Amino acid sequence: MTRNDGQHTSAENGAAPASAGRHRVAIVGAGFGGLFAAKALRRADVDVTVIDRTNHHLFQPLLYQVATGILAEGDIAPPIRYVLRRQRNATVMLGEVQRIDLDERRLVVDTLGRPSEVPYDSLILATGADQSYFGHPEFAQHAPGMKTIDDALELRARIFGAFELAEREPDPEVRRAWLTFVVVGAGPTGVELAGQIAELAHRSLCDDFRRIDPADARVVLLDAAATILPPFPESLQRRAARDLERRGVEIHLGATVTGVDERGIDTSSEDPRARRIEAATKVWAAGVQASSLGRVVAEGAGAGIDRTGRVQVRPDCTLPGHPEVFMVGDLLSLDHLPGLVQVAIQSGRHAAETIVRRLHGDTTERPFRYRDKGTLAMISRHHAVASVGRVRASGFPAWLLWLAVHLLALIGFENRVAVLFSWTVAFLGRGRPHRAITAREAFARQALDSQGDAFGTARRPTTTAAR
Ligand SMILES: Cc1cc2nc3c(=O)[nH]c(=O)nc-3n(C[C@H](O)[C@H](O)[C@H](O)COP(=O)(O)OP(=O)(O)OC[C@H]3O[C@@H](n4cnc5c(N)ncnc54)[C@H](O)[C@@H]3O)c2cc1C
Repeated sequence: MTRNDGQHTSAENGAAPASAGRHRVAIVGAGFGGLFAAKALRRADVDVTVIDRTNHHLFQPLLYQVATGILAEGDIAPPIRYVLRRQRNATVMLGEVQRIDLDERRLVVDTLGRPSEVPYDSLILATGADQSYFGHPEFAQHAPGMKTIDDALELRARIFGAFELAEREPDPEVRRAWLTFVVVGAGPTGVELAGQIAELAHRSLCDDFRRIDPADARVVLLDAAATILPPFPESLQRRAARDLERRGVEIHLGATVTGVDERGIDTSSEDPRARRIEAATKVWAAGVQASSLGRVVAEGAGAGIDRTGRVQVRPDCTLPGHPEVFMVGDLLSLDHLPGLVQVAIQSGRHAAETIVRRLHGDTTERPFRYRDKGTLAMISRHHAVASVGRVRASGFPAWLLWLAVHLLALIGFENRVAVLFSWTVAFLGRGRPHRAITAREAFARQALDSQGDAFGTARRPTTTAAR
C-alpha cells in the first residue's frame, strides 16, 4: 500500500510484517546496543524491526587495524541480515531514521531516497556517536576521524599512500612531511593507532622501499590532556607511555590543536617541536558527540542532554515521559557511564528484558545496573595494558588477554577465523595482509564533499523529532 504523500507503509517497505496483535519493537542502530537488544528478544512474542543506515554491524574497536592493513573491512563488519538470519521474529531494514513522531509512535525512514514509515509499540534507540572536533568541524577535512569503514579505508589509503609518495619525493623536507604521521587524541583508539603506525614503519615495511627507510617515519601522538589513556590507572598509563616511546612514538601532552591544514598541524604545546608539525597524514581520535538523533528526541520529549549530546534518561534507560522509548549505548547519559562496548551491550539487553517483563505484566521500574568488566588497550605487538577489577596487567600477558577478549567479542564464527588468520600473519610474521589501496578510497571524501548536499547527507545526518 502506498500513501498519497509517496511514503510507503511498513507492510511493503521492509519493516516487520505485523502479526495480528503482536507487540512491535523498533530498534534503530545495529551497533552493539541495538544488535544485542535484538538478540535478547529472540524468544519473545514480539515483532522486531532493526533499522540501520549501513548494512553491517561494525566492531569499532578494531577499525584501526583495518586502517593499518592488519584486517580486511569485512572481518569486522558482518552484514546485519546475516547475523540475524535465524531469528525469525526479526526483520532487518536498511535506512536512515530521519524523524520520530513520539506521540504517534512511528518512525520516518529514508532508504536511499525512498521514504517510509515504521510504527512501533516500543522503541530502542541505539544510534551511537559521531566524531567531535570541539567546535572546529573544519579540522575534519585534513584530519579525518575513525568511526566508519569508509573512514578506516580512507585512512589506510592515506597512510600507505604517504610512504609511496615519500619514496618518489626528491625534496628532503617534503619527504619528511610525507613520513610524518600525527594522531590527535591519546585515549585507547589514538594509542592503538599510533602504536600500529610505528610498528608498520619499523617492522612491516622495513624491506619494501629502495629510496626511503620507512623506519625514519615520525609518529606523533598529541593530546590536550596531561596524560595518555585517561580511563586507566596511573601505573598503566606510565607503562603504556614508556612502551610507545620505545617503539618510536613521540608523545606531546597538554597540546591543544589550534589549526589543521593540508601540510600540517598547529598546537598550543610549550614544546617547540610540537607547536607546528609539518605532516601530510593527520588523524583525529579525540572526541565524540552523541548521534544527532539523541538531541532531537530529547528536544521532542523535553529531556535534558549532557555536554556530549547524550540523552539524560530515567534510571531504567527510558526517555522521561515516554516509558516506551529506551536510549542505549553511546546515546545514554546515566550515572556518568562511559561510551564503551559493554555499556552498550548491557543497556541494550536491559531494554529488551524490560520490554519482555512488561509484556508479562510486570511494570515495575527496574534501574539499569552496569557491571564493569574492565578496560584493555593494545600498545603494539606483544604489548598491551589491562585493568580488570583489581587486577592490573601489562606487556605480553595483557596482550594475550587483549587478543582473547577481542576475538571472543567479534560477531560470527567466520569473522573470528578470518581475524585469527590475519593476526597470525601480522603478529607472528611481519606481514600486513590487507595493504591494497585505491584512489577511490583516498579521494572519495573530497569527491562527495564537492557534490554538496545531494551526496553529503550520509555524513550530515538530517534527523528530527516530533511530539
Ligand atoms: C575507533 C573506535 C575504537 C573504540 N574502541 C573501544 C574499545 O576498545 N573498547 C570499548 O569498550 N569501546 C570502544 N569504542 C566505543 C564503542 O565502539 C562504542 O561505545 C559502542 O560501539 C557503542 O555502541 P552503540 O550501539 O551505542 O553505537 P554504535 O556501535 O556506534 O552503533 C550505532 C549504529 O547506529 C547506526 N545509525 C546511526 N544513526 C542512524 C540513523 N539515524 N538511522 C539508522 N541507523 C543509524 C549506525 O550506522 C551504527 O550501526 C571505540 C569506538 C571507536 C569509534
